[in-house]
Amino acid sequence: TDIQELLLSRIRDVADYPEPGVMFKDITPLLADPAAFTALTDALAEVATNTGATKVVGLEARGFILGAPVAVRAGLGFIPVRKAGKLPGATLAQAYDLEYGSAEIEVHAEDLSADDRILIIDDVLATGGTAEASIRLIRRAGAEVAGLAVLMELGFLGGRARLEPALKGAPLEAV
Ligand code: IMP
Repeated sequence: TDIQELLLSRIRDVADYPEPGVMFKDITPLLADPAAFTALTDALAEVATNTGATKVVGLEARGFILGAPVAVRAGLGFIPVRKAGKLPGATLAQAYDLEYGSAEIEVHAEDLSADDRILIIDDVLATGGTAEASIRLIRRAGAEVAGLAVLMELGFLGGRARLEPALKGAPLEAV
């Protein structure tokens, strides 16, 4: 569609970042363009509404930038999932494996309740490791996962296939 073309035209490919051999998708030109940023926000807010989400979870850090305006546009609350050690309150944590080593994400446990249906938002789905950990975390906090929405999916990394069991039928939408 025209919107997809606009959005793709505002994503910059940066070779060998953050390390040799990686083609990094840089979304900062999209964020700097009000028409593109608004179109993306509207598209993701539509996903939030269509999935019946009650809250939006954004994954640090670009998921914050995209998720917060989506939550406001859809009339929903926003919950940050952060890297370990950043949230001051009582947290639930979820560890996950990286190519080298491991990482941990956290959420404020009191932000999620059994009545919540959560739409998870991030910018790029790569291997799906971060998203998979966030799905686990949200379920362990007692809430339901309404879906996962990203700006773009790096198909060759197989994130969608990896996430299929974890999503249990919840949609994975790439704008
Ligand atoms: P994954 O866990 O391998 O799916 O990596 C996803 C995480 O890394 C997300 O939080 C993304 O923001 C980030 N990421 C991975 N590749 C890129 C990229 O090319 N551009 C921007 N972010 C990326």
